Amino acid sequence: MPEGDTVYRTARLLDRTLRGQVLVASDFRVPQHATADLSGGTVVETVSRGKHLLTRIDLRDDRWTLHTHLKMEGSWKAFRPGQRWPRSAHQARVVLETGTAVAVGFSLGIVELVDRAAEADVVGHLGPDLLGPDWDEDVALANLAREPGRQLRDALLDQRNLAGIGTMYAAELCFTSGVDPATPVGAVPDLRRLVRRGRQMLVLNKERAVQSTTGDLRERERMWVFRRDRSPCRRCGTPIEVTQLGPAGRERASYWCPSCQPVLVSSG
Ligand SMILES: [Zn+2]
Repeated sequence: MPEGDTVYRTARLLDRTLRGQVLVASDFRVPQHATADLSGGTVVETVSRGKHLLTRIDLRDDRWTLHTHLKMEGSWKAFRPGQRWPRSAHQARVVLETGTAVAVGFSLGIVELVDRAAEADVVGHLGPDLLGPDWDEDVALANLAREPGRQLRDALLDQRNLAGIGTMYAAELCFTSGVDPATPVGAVPDLRRLVRRGRQMLVLNKERAVQSTTGDLRERERMWVFRRDRSPCRRCGTPIEVTQLGPAGRERASYWCPSCQPVLVSSG
């Protein structure tokens, strides 16, 4: 699943491709907007908010925002007009075409066109964006502290607390902080340091194509624990373990080193 840094790079790609350009065609391949037509509109900009993308388009007197989300399998790609797409056309959910480029959103989890004045309806629930200009560490910490009994990983994945962390960074942050992912938030020794490190990870990775939290760019060495189950821990050699963790019905794979990340229980 794409995390905040990937979405940030996607916003940059769309912004480079479309900003200031007039759309000569648009094609919405989702039922609720099948008849929408933005041709003649001018693309103002694309920004990311956590893992959400907002592409702002002015069309005559209307101020639209195209809200998209990559969810599990989605991506945005830019092509030259007439260039062959590497992914099947039936995976395209929205196509925006200018005189010089074609931007295609494949397998997007969300495609919705909203009035720009109503953007808060789609992203207003998000906590501070780790890569946003309005990042606020204290607000993120206060959000996390509201539920001290909640499992740390689950709390980090909740975009209402802070926006941009997915299962990969959540696993890596629990490891680099030396805490079991199931540790209650209130028992984490230095949550501020963990959050600050999370932001550093996203900032470091937002400019590079290959994500790494270890600084090592070799395959299978890029991460401390994420998707490294059964491989030896890079610190202590103990085999990395994987389990399903999270609220009932929404469990997701969690990776950790049982030696470096002991279970902590709240003293309170
Ligand atoms: Zn270890």
